[in-house]
Amino acid sequence: MQRDIDRILIPQRQIAQRVGELAKLITADHSPPKLNGTGELTIVPVLTGAIIFAGDLIRQIPIAMQIGLVTVSSYPGTSVSSQGAQVLAQQLGDLRGRHVLLLDDILDSGGTLRLVQSVLREQGAASVRSCVLLRKDRPAARELAVDYVGFDIPDVFVVGYGLDFDNYYRNLPDIVTLKSRVIEKKP
Ligand code: 5GP
Ligand code: MG
Repeated sequence: MQRDIDRILIPQRQIAQRVGELAKLITADHSPPKLNGTGELTIVPVLTGAIIFAGDLIRQIPIAMQIGLVTVSSYPGTSVSSQGAQVLAQQLGDLRGRHVLLLDDILDSGGTLRLVQSVLREQGAASVRSCVLLRKDRPAARELAVDYVGFDIPDVFVVGYGLDFDNYYRNLPDIVTLKSRVIEKKP
């Protein structure tokens, strides 16, 4: 696995620091007085890529919350560009009147967040905010308004810290690029 890494884009330490900062911002915005007693928080990580980000982030948000899950596929298998977002499964509970914070690993074309935001609104969420760890430097990604962004990165294919290639590399602690021989080998 280590041999396949081309470059470390964001090391573990820097990710941890930024996740802590995001948790503080989110806590300040979602503390009960801010929500005016109008409903509680549900965190919705987009599976599978957001699992590690969500695990690290929510343990630093000391507010009552429920967790809902949604599985979206847009980079199936060995794709390195979006093939169009599709909801594969959802386990969201009753969202009516709840404040929902959607978490995703990376904002690329915006298709995934747009799709899930509309699903959450249809289910009666009182508010829907979005947080992404990474945002790619491309016009489509900037067109979608997101409330919290961890890092803006160049428009390159990255893996690690939850992000995969063919469902591998999610367990790398850093966010990295892969050698071209790894990506090009697969169809
Ligand atoms: P979007 O729907 O915004 O085009 O893409 C978001 C989804 O595509 C992310 O949730 C992630 O699963 C996947 N994705 C986008 N860019 C990358 C990337 O550079 N690396 C990996 N591993 N997945 C990506
Ligand atoms: Mg994803």
